Amino acid sequence: MLRMTKIKGVPDRANIKPGMAHYEGSGPTGRTCGDCQHRGYMVEEGRRYGCAMFYKLTGKSGPAVGRYWRACKYFLGTEHAETDARRD
Ligand code: SF4
Repeated sequence: MLRMTKIKGVPDRANIKPGMAHYEGSGPTGRTCGDCQHRGYMVEEGRRYGCAMFYKLTGKSGPAVGRYWRACKYFLGTEHAETDARRD
């Protein structure tokens, strides 16, 4: 049996959620996918509630991400909307 050391604060396979762009909980404390601008995007078939960053990184649509899942390191909150608009 393979046993791995669990290091406090370091994400591992228990933090993997299908469709997330990175480990659950690797983003800002207290924020969730439901607060993130990357959750939900449009494709030809209509709106998907998957992660747009997952799509960007993999080139594939992943499963829908949960609104209450803890945010990952690619979290982009609505407070960043103005900053991103200026970047475009
Ligand atoms: S926090 Fe944002 S970027 Fe990360 S998985 Fe959730 S929706 Fe995607």
